[in-house]
Amino acid sequence: QRRWVLASRPHGEPVADDFRLEEANVPEPAEGEVLLRTIYLSLDPYMRGRMSDAPSYSPPVELGAVMVGGTVSRVEQSRHPNFKTGEWVLGYSGWQTYDVSNGDGLVKLGDAPEHPSWSLGILGMPGFTAYMGLLDIGQPKVGETLVVAAATGPVGATVGQIGKLKGCRVVGIAGGPEKCRHAVEVLGFDLCIDHRAKDFAEQLASACPAGIDVYYENVGGKVFDAVLPLLNTSARVPVCGLVSGYNATDLPDGPDRLPLLMGTLLKKRIRMQGFIIGQDYGHRIGEFQEEMGRWVQEGKIKYREQIIDGLENAPAALIGLLKGENFGKVVIRLAND
Ligand code: NDP
Repeated sequence: QRRWVLASRPHGEPVADDFRLEEANVPEPAEGEVLLRTIYLSLDPYMRGRMSDAPSYSPPVELGAVMVGGTVSRVEQSRHPNFKTGEWVLGYSGWQTYDVSNGDGLVKLGDAPEHPSWSLGILGMPGFTAYMGLLDIGQPKVGETLVVAAATGPVGATVGQIGKLKGCRVVGIAGGPEKCRHAVEVLGFDLCIDHRAKDFAEQLASACPAGIDVYYENVGGKVFDAVLPLLNTSARVPVCGLVSGYNATDLPDGPDRLPLLMGTLLKKRIRMQGFIIGQDYGHRIGEFQEEMGRWVQEGKIKYREQIIDGLENAPAALIGLLKGENFGKVVIRLAND
């Protein structure tokens, strides 16, 4: 058994020494439990939050405890009446090769799922986040302009593609020309702007001649500064994530833009709403699974993964993900199956 534990709480960007690789005996399942062998581990931006002990919507990982994370596993040994050896399950084993479970919270994926890792991405938490945030809070309408950043990540890519299905003009924002090309040529966005460009704000303004009706917020920071003056009257802003600030240790330099933000919200009657997918929408997973399953099957939604082999590479991959070094949904493959 190998596992990554949290060795120290990062100050700013996490570093390799914040994680410690430990070896231990493979755990023994008791009566009523299963032994799970991790095949895929999902890496997600929220993990930076769990490494910190600042108050949040979930408790932090304790120092010395296994890093948390969504996993796709196979039942290696079963002493539980509802699970049999070899079955695939979606669970929350974290950054380790084996785990024991009493079955609570495990979702069965069958004996031979076609793309088992997709339940960590397009057919799972990030896809569900895109779907609910855009459709329930964003309320996109035909002909409206939708803007989304982190446009090639699992959330942003899905938001933009659903926006196209709903008849919006979709403008993506991504880091670098290769990601921007992918957003337009593969995902079908109308345009995609590189947020690293010096004249990013001007480029975004000319990409949105009719203003912005829905801004799906994934990143915050300079991107939001450029978006704010372009928001239309009655715009909707689902606040999903603020990844540009997850490693921040201080508030950004002034001037204080809060009065500008509040004044814009007031004068333009903008609706801005945060949400946490599991806590706010857990009860609606069924409608998502049904509609997204159909869209993916029909080829209406495309999905890109970045599979990285080896549990040893997880810390570097998470550090990179927070800086935009990933291209697509990051999944660590621990074993071939
Ligand atoms: P991604 O795979 O899209 O990874 C994050 C991306 O953010 C990077 O690849 C990078 O893309 C972009 N990014 C990083 N730093 C900056 C920066 N300074 N400025 C602009 N862009 C930056 O992650 P996900 O799709 O998994 O998640 C997207 C967002 O959704 C995150 O904020 C996450 O926290 C949030 N989320 C929220 C949930 C909720 O319940 N509210 C649930 C799931 C996710 P690029 O190189 O293109 O800039």
